[in-house]
This record gives sequence, C-alpha cells and structure tokens, in this order.
Amino acid sequence: MQTILNELAEIVGHDNVLTGTSVSQRSVDWFSGLACEAGAIIRPADTEELSRVMACCHAAGQAVVTHGGLTGVVHGAVTAPDELVVSLERMTAIEDIDVVGGTLTVQAGAPLQRVQEAAEEVDMQFPLDLGARGSCTIGGNIATNAGGVRVIRYGMMRQQVLGLEAVLADGTVVSSLNQMLKNNAGYDLKQLFIGSEGTLGIVTRAVLRLQPRLPSEQTALVAVPSFSALTTLLNLAARRIGLSAFEALWQSHYRLMTEESGAYPPPLATDSPFYAIIESQGADVEIDTERFQAFLEQALDQGLITDAVLAGSEAQRQAIWDIREDIEVLVKQLAPMFSYDVSLPIPAMEDYVAGLERRLADAFPEQGRLVAFGHLGDGNLHIMISVRDDRPESRRGVERLVYEPLAAIGGSISAEHGIGLEKCDYLSLSRSSAELELMRLLKRTLDPGGLLNPGKIFGASTP
Ligand code: FAD
Ligand code: ZN
Repeated sequence: MQTILNELAEIVGHDNVLTGTSVSQRSVDWFSGLACEAGAIIRPADTEELSRVMACCHAAGQAVVTHGGLTGVVHGAVTAPDELVVSLERMTAIEDIDVVGGTLTVQAGAPLQRVQEAAEEVDMQFPLDLGARGSCTIGGNIATNAGGVRVIRYGMMRQQVLGLEAVLADGTVVSSLNQMLKNNAGYDLKQLFIGSEGTLGIVTRAVLRLQPRLPSEQTALVAVPSFSALTTLLNLAARRIGLSAFEALWQSHYRLMTEESGAYPPPLATDSPFYAIIESQGADVEIDTERFQAFLEQALDQGLITDAVLAGSEAQRQAIWDIREDIEVLVKQLAPMFSYDVSLPIPAMEDYVAGLERRLADAFPEQGRLVAFGHLGDGNLHIMISVRDDRPESRRGVERLVYEPLAAIGGSISAEHGIGLEKCDYLSLSRSSAELELMRLLKRTLDPGGLLNPGKIFGASTP
C-alpha cells in the first residue's frame, strides 16, 4: 500500500493523500455513523489528476471507492482497509452557466445546494431537490440517480443531465459533455453512468439542464380521511394546479414527527389516517394563489380533505416541509432503525403497508414499529422500521417482510436510493436473470479487474 500511496502523492500532492484519523473520522453511513476504514483518501484537483490516479491504481490492481457528500443510505460508500477512497471534495467548481441554452456545467464534487443557488442567481432553477441538499454532491446525485420531492414535475436526476464526463477504471477519460436536449448520434453513453453507483466509472463533470425559475410557490399541509381520497386528491391536484410536489404522510409518521417526539408542533390535529404536503409552482403569484385556494376548497367540498393549512410565509412553508424532511427525528425516535425505499403501483400501496404492519406485528410482537411516508405520485414509499434491535438476523427478517411481497405486485426494492451493499441479496426480486446478466456484462467490460466500488450492487458475486 505504501508504494502506491507514494506514487499517488506525486500526482495529487502529499496534502491530498489523507491517512490515519483523517480517514477514520469520516463516516461512510449517514444513518449509523459507521467509520471509514480505507487505506487512504485521495483528493484529486481535477479530471486530469484523477485520470492519472486511476491509471496508477489500474496498473497496481488497486481497488477504489468514490466518495461524494457521503449522504447515501445504502452503504454504497463503505470502504475496506485494503481499498482507497477517491474523494471529489476539491472538484467543486461551477464552470459555466448558459442562460440562453438553459445549461450549467459543474464539477461533480459540487454540493447540490450550491448548484441550486447558482441557478437562482441567474433567475433559473435546478429543480432536483432532496433533504440532503446541503451535503450531497452532483456526482453522488448522478451515481445514485437521485429522486427527491420534485420528481412528479421534473423527473429524476437522469432527466436533469444533458452530458457528463467520467474517468474509467483504467484512467481513460470519456468526455461526453453534450449541451443539447437532442443528440441521437449513437448510444447515449451518459446513461451508463447515471445510477451505476460508482461501479462503471467516476463522474467528474456534468452538464445539467436548468429550468426557468418560477416565482410563485404555494404549499399546504392537508388532512386526508382515506387512502382512496389521497389518490383522488393527487389526481385532482395534477389537473387543477401547477403541481410540483405531493408528499404523503401516514398517520404513524405525522404523529411521531409532531406530538410524540415533540420535534414540531402539529399544524393540524393528529387524528387523520393520512396527510399530504402539496406544493405548486407557477409564474403568477396572484393567479396561482387563487387557483390553489380554489383547489383546496373543491377538495374540502368533495370530502377529499378534512382540514388544511396553507403556508402564508417562507417560515410557515419551512415548518411544513421540516415535518417531512427532518429524518434525524426519525433516526432518534426509532433507533436502531432500518430504512427502506420501495416503489410499487399506487393502487397497491395501502394494502402493502397494512399487510406489512400485520406481518411485522406477527414476527416481532411488542417491539415491531413501522412509519410510512413518501413520494406518492412517483409510486415511491419510504418505510422506516424499528424492532428495537439491530442484530443481523433481525435485519434480515425485516428485509424479507419488506421486499418479498414486492415481486408479486411488480414493485422495486429501490425507488431512488440504489442497491449499494445493503440490498445486493435482493436484487433478483426486482431484476430478471437476463437483466442481471447484461448488468454483469457491462461491469466486466468496463471494469474487468473489479476495481471500482467492489461488491456494490452485485455483492460477493461481482464478475
Ligand atoms: P455519496 O453518499 O458520497 O455516494 C453515494 C454513491 O455514489 C456511492 O456508491 C459512491 O461511491 C457513488 N458516487 C459518489 N460520487 C460519485 C461520482 N462522482 N462518480 C461515481 N460514483 C460516485 N436520495 C434520493 O434519491 N431522494 C431523496 O429524497 C433523498 N433524501 C435524503 C434525505 C436525507 C436527509 C439523506 C441523508 C439522504 C437522502 N437521500 C435521498 C440519499 C442521498 O442523499 C442521495 O443518494 C445522494 O444522491 C447521494 O449523494 P452523495 O454525494 O452524498 O453521494
Ligand atoms: Zn425520497
């Protein structure tokens, strides 16, 4: 290891090869705080240095794990003592903004929030948005094909990326920094890297698609009397307002975040079976506000909601979103907690959650506890489960309860967080053997030595 570290120090400088406590102080898992065990952290300054780092690692057969903002939640950044970390923390520049073309070119280590702010400065918006916005990076967002709360309007990260640059396992730089919306000249190579969790290449730069900034935003929290009212409400919102977010909260979640934990005062009484946070974006504050209020009144008249609170200020808007986005409260209240991120057809959701609650109570009487919420319009639920212990056999028991019913209803074991090391054993529930074989073929072709993010997605069976 020392020989290669000396060679890498020649490339990136001694200050950018971190060892000892500079490594172990970093946590590679947002939920548990698990310490990084890598041999060293290498911090290249740009694509050229990273290319030389990878050429050197390739020659030595040295495995590497890429680190972005370390907010991933499926153990995708976990690193063994004989592996090296490549961290993009020095590659954070916003290189170019083209307002006419609606593009922003950025280095992959830039935090999402900085990109959002840079877009706003030129009266545009970068619409991808998630609770981890302050820490997660554009490279991490691309590697995980992140989703978040605006997918219903703008799509996932995949829809926001026009082009990208990546360094392959042998150090080859593939620069595919396309700036156009349309480009059908052969394979769309960027798609190989989006959602590949650092297993096929290291993303170094990206051309992102910007949208016009919409100055008007309305946000409401509503109480919903039944699941069928919730889906009818979603349908009505999609037709009546410029819907940009529709987040469903099961009562279990709303109660825990408000009266049970005391973290936030409940803006509405806590006796409703469901709640939703509904947000619209538009171009005209007056017209959009009137339209939003009319939509809420119609929903009340039709019995789709029983109560509502409409944010009248930025502080009130934030107070509503905090209830949805403050995951730390859940972690604290449910510790030790298992977190799941499943997708399934919307009509199947109510029965799936109710069935899961029943099976959990059977398998873990007394201790089993479930909290559900998520991006209803995207068919994506986040489910947090606590059985008050985190022994591997308990984790596996809960995983089976969560994942096994999904295959029969055409769901997926991961809607947006990815597979990492955490879900490898269950990948075949969501992918056919032909799909898995093609994935392995891609991995073998681009990374024959298995140097990039070993074990992630495929588990011990990495080609
Ligand atoms: P990291 O955690 O550093 O890495 C994640 C994976 O990507 C690892 O496998 C890593 O090796 C790989 N990787 C990182 N950078 C690169 C690169 N440049 N090239 C190649 N591979 C790379 N996710 C959602 O999708 N939607 C949400 O709503 C959401 N909400 C969240 C809320 C909170 C509070 C938290 C803590 C997390 C949330 N996440 C969400 C998960 C997480 O924020 C995303 O997965 C995010 O995209 C990870 O970015 P990161 O920079 O932190 O990546
Ligand atoms: Zn989410």
